[in-house]
Amino acid sequence: MSRIKTIAFLVLIAVMLLAACSPAAAPATNEEPAAEETSNGKLVAISMPTKSSSRWISDGNSMVTTFEEMGYETDLQYAEDDIPNQLAQIENMVTKGADVLVIAAIDGSTLSDILQKAHDAGILVIAYDRLITKTPNVDYYVTFDNFQVGVLQASQIETALKLKDGNGPYNIELFGGSPDDTNAFYFYDGAMSILQPYIDNGQLVVQSGQMGMDKVSTLRWDGATAQARMDNILSAYYTDKQVDAVLSPYDGLSIGILSSLKGVGYGTGDLPMPVVTGQDAEIASIKSMIAGEQSYTVFKDTRDLAKQAALMVDAHLKGQEVPINDTETYNNEVKVVPSYLLVPYSVDITNYEALLVDTGYYTADQLK
Ligand code: BGC
Repeated sequence: MSRIKTIAFLVLIAVMLLAACSPAAAPATNEEPAAEETSNGKLVAISMPTKSSSRWISDGNSMVTTFEEMGYETDLQYAEDDIPNQLAQIENMVTKGADVLVIAAIDGSTLSDILQKAHDAGILVIAYDRLITKTPNVDYYVTFDNFQVGVLQASQIETALKLKDGNGPYNIELFGGSPDDTNAFYFYDGAMSILQPYIDNGQLVVQSGQMGMDKVSTLRWDGATAQARMDNILSAYYTDKQVDAVLSPYDGLSIGILSSLKGVGYGTGDLPMPVVTGQDAEIASIKSMIAGEQSYTVFKDTRDLAKQAALMVDAHLKGQEVPINDTETYNNEVKVVPSYLLVPYSVDITNYEALLVDTGYYTADQLK
């Protein structure tokens, strides 16, 4: 190699080494550097009913994350199942200049006055997993297929007792949700669409005779109320009989019902625990399932519900077509509220890990 060629070669190597060490060596790209999350200046106020149930905590947290990722500011409030408290919180949200209200009502019929003010101020109103009734001032409802929730709960009982094979008679008791929450009626009606034929043909017997939402509802979804009612039923109708199944529409009630059953010896000796259903896949209920007590629950993925709410809000505010898939079911006594219904899933001991742990809804440790 001539001297000149050697120098040129060394220079080339040096240039390559320098280039490799310098930031300019990074592959060329047209992408802008990642922008810091910026606010679009719009405030989404989120009013949740209570922290006493873990699902509403998940809902609130998922909504804050999702809306903030989309550039919204958020204000999340819990009303601890106190109606005046929820009204005051929403009033305050309106005064603070919220652009959007996302509300899971404690009593869906109590918000007409404040929602009139919200409407007058041009605020978008989303009913979140509980229908808001008796007002025209609710723009959309985002929820799950509530009738299907009841169908799933009753189907769980149908499967566990092998009712399709003609087995029975079995004793069943029925529980309903809060009568001020329209969902409770959809859950009950969905369940009865499966159970009623078995009651009519005698495969299922309601020893207490307590049927219909006027007899079986549980104000404010309160577990202690359900427990007290189960205590009364057991002492009045089951001193010489065994209850084989309990339709419960919500895990918080199921836990109360199970306490009552355990109190008189179910789950020990030759008194097996009846089939007990539920809803929301709450941690206490999954633990109960693992312990062999609660038989089933229904999982409604609150992460998906939060995302759907955010997509609807965002589309509406941008003047785009709002994703809805039901324009018939949810009549709030003033109008049919355009709705989006998500799919609920049946949970038992065989699939809770796949649905709840593998998807990251809970960690395995939370269920220990
Ligand atoms: C919700 C259920 C929940 C119940 C009690 C209903 O409105 O749809 O998921 O179990 O309230 O909080």
